[in-house]
Amino acid sequence: MMLIEKSPFVHIYKSNGKVCLYHSLDITNIYGSHLLAELFESLRFPQTMGQIAGHFKDEHGNIDSRAIEYINLLLRHKFLRYLDSSDETNLIATLNQQAQCSDIRFLYLVPTSVCNLRCKYCHIIDTWAAYGHQHMLPETAEAGIKRFMEYSSISGGQKEIMFYGGEPLLAPELVQHAVDYIRNNSNDCKITMFTNGTAVTWDMAKFLADNDVFVIVSMDGPAQVHDQMRCYVDGRGGFEDAARGYDILENAGCRLGISLVMGRHNIPGLKSAVEYLIDRFRPIDFGFSTLHLHQHGSNPADVDIRLLTEEMIDTFMFIREKGIYAEHLFRRIRPFVEQQIRLKDCPSCGGKFLVAPDKSIGFCEAFLGTGLYYYPLQSFELSNEGYNEWKGIAPVRREECLRCPAIAICGGGCPYDAWVQHGNINSLDTVRCQQSNILLEWLIWDLFDHVSTGGNLDLWELLVPDKAQRQLIYSRIDIADKKLPLCGYSRYGEGEKINHEDHEEKPRRLQT
Ligand code: SF4
Ligand code: SF4
Repeated sequence: MMLIEKSPFVHIYKSNGKVCLYHSLDITNIYGSHLLAELFESLRFPQTMGQIAGHFKDEHGNIDSRAIEYINLLLRHKFLRYLDSSDETNLIATLNQQAQCSDIRFLYLVPTSVCNLRCKYCHIIDTWAAYGHQHMLPETAEAGIKRFMEYSSISGGQKEIMFYGGEPLLAPELVQHAVDYIRNNSNDCKITMFTNGTAVTWDMAKFLADNDVFVIVSMDGPAQVHDQMRCYVDGRGGFEDAARGYDILENAGCRLGISLVMGRHNIPGLKSAVEYLIDRFRPIDFGFSTLHLHQHGSNPADVDIRLLTEEMIDTFMFIREKGIYAEHLFRRIRPFVEQQIRLKDCPSCGGKFLVAPDKSIGFCEAFLGTGLYYYPLQSFELSNEGYNEWKGIAPVRREECLRCPAIAICGGGCPYDAWVQHGNINSLDTVRCQQSNILLEWLIWDLFDHVSTGGNLDLWELLVPDKAQRQLIYSRIDIADKKLPLCGYSRYGEGEKINHEDHEEKPRRLQT
């Protein structure tokens, strides 16, 4: 007799009489009544089909005729498995392999380490202070871009170069030189500029629009919110200048997005801050950044992560009805909806290089100035020990993550924050771990709300959402929109789709 056991990747969620079994590797959900939870919780050791069916006895002691079909459905969807099954072990081995592949597609170029603002929550102020004020020379930009083109041509995917700082527009000549160099050497490279918006001129805006540079301006809400954190050295708020810069960019014809940092200045109240920004600036997309930790002391904008995540969810439910894309959030939502495991969260884990003004190359901006993980560009090679350490970071490679419900959507969080917390880039970023699990639970019940026709399920009813039903979570957002910025960046680390072909034919709703 073949023995059957429950998969260790199945997690049970309960809410108001409803039950969801969630398979954390396969990214599948089965919704049912309390019967589903009782069956699963009773399976403490491997049993035969007959023994399991014995859990479904009626008041006369007879096994219910619906039991076998019920168990078979759980077997087909891999929530139950035969003892000799190696499906999950094989899947982890494949994902492990995928996670270690080089996939270099992103370059951060830092024209200058100087910034005219002193945002109170900025996590790189600490480390970049040691780096000092340095400006990039044109030949450094060329050498960095050239090296990046070589590496990214091996990967073959969509290349993206981002200007980052410091404030990149404090070095306008370098920006223009580098953009010209990119456009002259590659006709398929996307270019993005991160800016605080305060130093935008008409000529620069026109230049960026003419060269199809997507511009992302940092804005945290209306002036009274924004100015609490985003200030000049003398403490003056930067909103007015940022808004003026945004308007110039828009009038010049630039495609524009807004990057918003969430903290105690806009939480609670995130939704109204975002509503204001949408009405005032009409951005194509929003980035919702969770605060990073400060190396020394706490972040002055720190806010409870549960409250922050709940506000972020609330805001997402609002903007999805407007069809506005939300970067960062989609890094969690898309893997859940498309059933495509996210192997990595941050492209620094094998996919991104940063070239700094002093002609050094590294992976994460926050480490610049720490003396760690930066190397002379001239002698850098892909066999570099640091590169291989970053490339190897992925939750599927960590024993403790294999038991975590959020393993398929989290990507492992931020290695820099893990380093600040635990002194090791390969440790857990516990703040984002908590956030990913809160988001997962919300996704599970949001999906249920979309697919159930209301209320609880009948005792024997099982509901298995299909692809189209999962996509209802997007609402009016078109995730295939080519106008969106950072498309490749946002999808970095999303592994191949999990093959659900073998049980695609199953009914979405089973009334056994
Ligand atoms: S590890 Fe990635 S997410 Fe974290 S600070 Fe560095 S670049 Fe940003
Ligand atoms: S949320 Fe944290 S514990 Fe869970 S898989 Fe991701 S990194 Fe690991």
